[in-house]
Amino acid sequence: MKKFIVAAAVAVAGFTTSALADGHAMTVGVSWSNFQEERWKTDEAAIKGALDAAGANYVSADAQSSSAKQLSDVESLIAQGVDALIILAQDSAAIGPAVDAAAAEGIPVVGYDRLIEDKRAFYLTFDNVEVGRMQARAVLEAAPKGRYVMIKGSPTDPNADFLRGGQQEVLQAAIDAGDITIVDEAYTDGWLPANAQRNMEQILTANDNGVDAVVASNDGTAGGVVAALTAQGMEGIPVSGQDGDHAALNRVALGTQTVSVWKDARELGKAAGEIAVALAKSDGDMSAVDGSAEWESPAGTKMMAKFLAPVPVTKDNLSAVVDAGWIEKDKLCQGV
Ligand code: BGC
Repeated sequence: MKKFIVAAAVAVAGFTTSALADGHAMTVGVSWSNFQEERWKTDEAAIKGALDAAGANYVSADAQSSSAKQLSDVESLIAQGVDALIILAQDSAAIGPAVDAAAAEGIPVVGYDRLIEDKRAFYLTFDNVEVGRMQARAVLEAAPKGRYVMIKGSPTDPNADFLRGGQQEVLQAAIDAGDITIVDEAYTDGWLPANAQRNMEQILTANDNGVDAVVASNDGTAGGVVAALTAQGMEGIPVSGQDGDHAALNRVALGTQTVSVWKDARELGKAAGEIAVALAKSDGDMSAVDGSAEWESPAGTKMMAKFLAPVPVTKDNLSAVVDAGWIEKDKLCQGV
């Protein structure tokens, strides 16, 4: 398709258009895993905005939670002649052939938000270990002693274990001191809130409701957890989440969720669009990406990466998300 790109800046009606040597505008393909969580539409709008600003076209496919569909989606994006790919992987163990297919055509790949363990993919994400630390810190502050449950993310998403690792780092001292005990933990297949709710119901039953705090790994799973707690009249015990989902921010305002670690998806999406264009223009030169550095995965893969910083949002600083234009004040049930 596009083994050797020569990029030319063409001024069109006052805008700078990223175009190839043959005059065709650049096209970036995005392979989404699904649109289950609220955040992904925000990520998508931000990617589109960055591509628009660069005069590049956006094409996309939604794998609808199927790792097999994601592989054929990537093939089809490649067949559409994309100059760079952004991939939100559904299953880290199944995505390899997509990177092979892109590499065979000389198409640069951005592993978006979730690790694609391959040095041919640029890794762009938030610091997920730090997200985990922030979740545990907020819950530990609210429940310095007691019986903890860990509701983890999808087992096919490396973020689940990065988060869990950060959570453990923060909880370890309190565990060693005998102040807290982790009574149970469970992965959440597909990050589905209904699965988190079912796991939480089973854990409550097995423990005779003897649970004091829940470290849940995102806002969707926190919603499932809070539903299970509410059914037992236990809503209000500390629960964590992440993403700044509007429903979760309202739970924070109401006191049924302790923290939502906010990752400004507008920033991640913008960075992804810009990086994809830069990589396409530089024929995949990752060192040209602003703010990138070499990173070593826990499995020992050295790859180029860029990490954005998350922000924990609790009842005390809800105004941060309002001030940032993430949520309108009147969409928060109790205002701030
Ligand atoms: C993302 C979270 C998201 C979860 C479910 C994770 O990889 O980092 O922001 O809530 O996937 O989509």
